Amino acid sequence: MLAQMLYRGGLRSLLSCPFSRFSNGTVVRPGWLGRPRMVSALTNEPSNPLLQSAHNQLTRHACASSSSRNDLLPLARQPFGIELCGKVARLLNGNGVENLLWGSHLMATYTVPVVIQELAFAIPRSQVHTAIDSLEAEGVSLCRDRSCSWSRWQETAWQRSSDQKPAHFHLDHGEAGDLTGPDWNTVQLHAMEDVLWEVSAEGRGVGFSNGMDNDIIFANDPGLRMGSPLQGWGRFPASCPGVRLPTWQRYVEALILLALSSDGYACTFWYGELCHAAEVGNPDRLGHPTFTKFLKGLSVHPQSTFRAEIAEARESLGSRLHPRRGS
Ligand SMILES: [Zn+2]
Repeated sequence: MLAQMLYRGGLRSLLSCPFSRFSNGTVVRPGWLGRPRMVSALTNEPSNPLLQSAHNQLTRHACASSSSRNDLLPLARQPFGIELCGKVARLLNGNGVENLLWGSHLMATYTVPVVIQELAFAIPRSQVHTAIDSLEAEGVSLCRDRSCSWSRWQETAWQRSSDQKPAHFHLDHGEAGDLTGPDWNTVQLHAMEDVLWEVSAEGRGVGFSNGMDNDIIFANDPGLRMGSPLQGWGRFPASCPGVRLPTWQRYVEALILLALSSDGYACTFWYGELCHAAEVGNPDRLGHPTFTKFLKGLSVHPQSTFRAEIAEARESLGSRLHPRRGS
């Protein structure tokens, strides 16, 4: 089954990265790399006191006060996780950049035990330059080196070449960066029009949210699951405001549209993301019968018959696919 073959960033991590970190902070060796382990979904409030305690440990220092050791570090040297995520989101918010969490931090927030190698946000294309200026003012410099590992991966693997290349910034993680290859520790800004074109966040303001049943929520929304040490971190603590994300149903719909709109490696990449995000929610929450049917089919159809499902979904969704599909 496709879901068993792929995991987020699989090719990138397996071929380029001798070690990787999971969202719970664990560093794993190559022999452990495979599909991130999935465990049974938790209820919103774990009844097991051990899980509650573990979650508290996971998030205790997130967005902490000035006593946090990370607070003493320049932004570019702070480790991945809830704290850095909150700081960057609030930095963008403060400069009026309408951002939604994307990438592996988003998956971790939905309790997917994903490999964390980047901090990504989707922002309106019109605000890219403002966002770059905001980050550079905090000492996080835009990468202009087209020969860095991440740039070369983007150039050679990505098929939809007409997409705006995500702006990326390298973090200085020192020894930790050496484990994974320093080039891979990036903050990325993706054009909302290229990844979340149906989630209309632009023009609504950085404080806009409309609830779990709609489009956009905050990462500390009480409706989000709490994570555990075996999963992604789940819901952000109440002490970490300002991080917004697409609701699970809008996120999964976006991944389906991205997969159906892409070819080659990009298509494989998005299916990999979809397989994992799909396991932590209910397909019946999706906003169109084709999405629901496609997601359910993903888990039951062998690969040999899945091409027909793809073709049928593309036909059904038509104009909702990316306008530059296949270019
Ligand atoms: Zn670079």
